Amino acid sequence: MRILYPFAKRFIAGEDRQTALKNIKSLYEQGFLCTVDVLGESVHTEDQAVAAKNEYLNLLKDIETFHRPVDLSAKVSALGMDISYDLCKKNVEELIDAVRHHTVRFDMEGSDLTERTLKLGLELQKNHRNLGVVLQAYLRRTGEDVQSVINQGVSTRLCKGAYKEPETIAYQSMDQIRENFLKQAFRLLKEGHLPAIATHDEILIEQISRFIEKENISHDSFYFELLYGVRRDIQQALLGKGYQVRIYVPYGKAWLPYTLRRLAERKENILFVLKSLVRETFGLGKFSKS
Ligand SMILES: Cc1cc2nc3c(=O)[nH]c(=O)nc-3n(C[C@H](O)[C@H](O)[C@H](O)COP(=O)(O)OP(=O)(O)OC[C@H]3O[C@@H](n4cnc5c(N)ncnc54)[C@H](O)[C@@H]3O)c2cc1C
Repeated sequence: MRILYPFAKRFIAGEDRQTALKNIKSLYEQGFLCTVDVLGESVHTEDQAVAAKNEYLNLLKDIETFHRPVDLSAKVSALGMDISYDLCKKNVEELIDAVRHHTVRFDMEGSDLTERTLKLGLELQKNHRNLGVVLQAYLRRTGEDVQSVINQGVSTRLCKGAYKEPETIAYQSMDQIRENFLKQAFRLLKEGHLPAIATHDEILIEQISRFIEKENISHDSFYFELLYGVRRDIQQALLGKGYQVRIYVPYGKAWLPYTLRRLAERKENILFVLKSLVRETFGLGKFSKS
């Protein structure tokens, strides 16, 4: 799968921490905030889960020198949830103790993990205010989950959702997903605690920006979040309008599952990969020797 790396490179800040830190520093210098994901998911041994936690701890130490707030995006499956709830909880607690004024946020994975991820998030957030979660607008249950996070004051990222889910539990049409996204975004913006609106969808961003101005919602009370390498034009435009813009920055060697999700989101991405493969296979690249 190394063949996909030229495509992956656009979406990840590097395969190692030092390269990622240079890119993160540059984002901060441009005025962005960052949420950093150490790539990896679905680990099956305790050692792998501990290694994932240790990488976050090392990252925290290095990032301290930037003197800027950082949001750590972590997948519970990388921290051992598929091995045991208690192992994952122990790893997360160690991380939360170390983050101090920063934040740990659980990315939301496939629906087999939704319930356990939220249970752990809501349980730990009672004693650790700097723990955040993610909700997916395509899930039918999300309206109820939004109520829970509002009631408990949990900082929440709202995204559409990136996994293939069945119709019984998830909206399938883009119109329905957008409708639910807007409904839940408006609730979070009015009643939630530091929500993050995570989308590159211009229709949604336009309507949400209008809502923010109409309702006089303070720009300090929420974030727009976008993925590293996706729609840099929108990232800059939102920053220019005076919004707090946080970039989701993934790094690490385990880039394949993340890259495949990005690939599946756009047919143009699949075409890009196919074209690169043809160019490489038949030596048709601009700089290839004739
Ligand atoms: C900050 C952030 C964090 C996220 N965290 C999670 C999470 O924890 N769990 C989860 O399930 N999902 C997560 N996602 C992914 C999300 O659920 C969507 O799959 C993804 O954002 C695409 O949906 P969209 O709202 O951007 O709209 P789309 O309609 O898919 O895209 C809008 C436009 O953005 C651009 N674009 C979008 N995706 C790509 C791409 N892959 N390549 C090139 N251009 C693209 C295109 O110009 C497209 O027209 C996250 C997304 C963001 C922005």
